[in-house]
Amino acid sequence: MTLLAAGGRGPASVGAPASTLIRNARVIDGSGSAARAADVRIADDRIVAVGRLTPGPADRVIDGGGLALAPGFIDTHSHHDRGLDTAREATAMVSQGVTTIVVGQDGGGIDLAALFGRLERQPAAVNVASYAGHGAIRDRVLGKDFARAATAEEIQRMQTLLAAEMEAGALGLSTGLEYDPGIYSTPAEVLALAKTAGAAGGRYASHIRSEDRWFWDALDELIAIGRQNRMPVHVSHIKLGMHDLWGQASKLIDTLDRARAAGVQLTADIYPYTYWQSNLGVLYPKRNFADRAETEALLAELAEADGDERSLIELDQRIHRHVYRCTHNPFLSAALGEHYLLSLRIWFLALDRVEQLGDAVREHRELLEAIRDGDGDAAEAAMLRHVDGFEQAIRVVL
Ligand SMILES: [Zn+2]
Ligand SMILES: [Zn+2]
Repeated sequence: MTLLAAGGRGPASVGAPASTLIRNARVIDGSGSAARAADVRIADDRIVAVGRLTPGPADRVIDGGGLALAPGFIDTHSHHDRGLDTAREATAMVSQGVTTIVVGQDGGGIDLAALFGRLERQPAAVNVASYAGHGAIRDRVLGKDFARAATAEEIQRMQTLLAAEMEAGALGLSTGLEYDPGIYSTPAEVLALAKTAGAAGGRYASHIRSEDRWFWDALDELIAIGRQNRMPVHVSHIKLGMHDLWGQASKLIDTLDRARAAGVQLTADIYPYTYWQSNLGVLYPKRNFADRAETEALLAELAEADGDERSLIELDQRIHRHVYRCTHNPFLSAALGEHYLLSLRIWFLALDRVEQLGDAVREHRELLEAIRDGDGDAAEAAMLRHVDGFEQAIRVVL
């Protein structure tokens, strides 16, 4: 059981109790001290007393039933800026005890004045804070012509937009440097924008430029931003996302510790599970999806590519598992199709291996052959059958 701190800002309705008393709970107050049996009284959205409390005539009494009672949790890396407009009850969050979310992650998120205005008029069941997203700002300035470095004048325009977002209440700048359009920015562009956020008292939070092949360079880029701009910098969902990097966690911790010891205000967070969660596109930093050598290297990274039937079936399962995990929330994400198409591209390039397989990948074959032969109707029919299979599988998994 969690105390929900958000919502209910309006005047108390006639006859409503003056306070709420939660009794018989195990209070975990967030200070680090052990859980203790206590009652909690709340009045006007505030905790006014904690301890052994006696119900008064004005109390609405809730029996905690011996469950844990804690302040609401803060999800510091949330993607629920999508969907909150239509699901203001925010069940996925509040049912986990999350009462504050931080959105605008990975370079997404802009026009916070409008976002906060909407939330003021129609509040959601959670408190919302946001970063200003580099990718969204870059998109505003470069539009479709994003696959290049920005000019000095364009960087200035981005800085102006960012300064306005900071004014509107952004926590700082977030980047998604593995994604379009952020991947095409130079380190100098990112440094300059982060400086604008820092000058307004903001932080820098980054999905860094590489979590696999160029991981150490990407980490250096972030540390340099913290050192040169003297601002807090944060590595989002830090990971060693490649077999070659596995086993180097102590080197990673040492690197972070050294930077902190040298005065860089550096933090990082990590997923509470052992899978990578992104889209397959980030595995192609050069966006060369049709490059066979690149795809072979990627296949080798995902699974042993010895060509025998068992490893290929396993590869198929791994790609599918990866796709399931790609979606931040399988129910909410509309991105499934994109990931699916990318996994198909991989399969398309591996078609000569697929030839050896039997029933396990028959649907892939139908689809791939339809794509190869330019038969759009057959491809769509095969894809719909397969997507249907995906949804069934997700239902089973959950
Ligand atoms: Zn994210
Ligand atoms: Zn990310």
